[in-house]
Amino acid sequence: MRKQIVAGNWKMNNDLAQTEALITALKKQTKTTDAEVMIAPTATNLWQAYNSLKDSKIEVIAQNMHFAENGAYTGEISASMLKSIGINTVILGHSERREYFNETDELLAKKVDAALAKGMRVIFCFGEELADRKAGKEETVVGNQIKNALFHLNAAAFQNIILAYEPVWAIGTGETASPEQAQDMHAFIRKTLADKYGNDIAEEVSILYGGSVKPANAEEIFSKPDVDGGLIGGASLNADDFFAIVNAF
Ligand code: PGA
Repeated sequence: MRKQIVAGNWKMNNDLAQTEALITALKKQTKTTDAEVMIAPTATNLWQAYNSLKDSKIEVIAQNMHFAENGAYTGEISASMLKSIGINTVILGHSERREYFNETDELLAKKVDAALAKGMRVIFCFGEELADRKAGKEETVVGNQIKNALFHLNAAAFQNIILAYEPVWAIGTGETASPEQAQDMHAFIRKTLADKYGNDIAEEVSILYGGSVKPANAEEIFSKPDVDGGLIGGASLNADDFFAIVNAF
């Protein structure tokens, strides 16, 4: 049985007081599904969030990290630093990191290696832009993103990889991929994995959908057979909305 996962990506939102307030509101919520729940606050609030939630069923995860162990990389954070404050999962390859911080597949391959080497889980994000989809190239683009950043890994590494398909045109735009578009792409992603690593591995990897998931559309998207959960941006900033999505399975 694949894990169902709902992860909230808070992006660069919520200062310390706002983080504490949202965590207090999240703690009051009730989970009625088996889905794993994660939140990714900004780096300055990870330690506080970790401590507030360490006895709860909500895992605190990071939005990004550097590939190096330590050294002269001003402003960066390493896997060891995250591990040292109890953070065991990291989001890598978000389209905003790719677009605004020039993260390439090659760089992301190094980050993935660094996270896995420390025993961390990775939520690896990828997705096509609108122009790619209009040109009918969405599968080629997505296939290459996965191959370039992940296909140097051995099969066992996929125990610690969660995939997140996030079409760039659906992130923060209010425009969601239709449940059918999500399912088609998730099936393609699983087949891409199966062709390289075999069916057993492909069937075990959770593939999340991200891009304007809300309480109103989560249930239909999550009902698709190859959609194993969601990476939630805007709607994760409200405890009621986020848990409505968690409970949408
Ligand atoms: P959104 O963001 O839900 O606000 O579209 C999703 C994401 O970027 O992970």
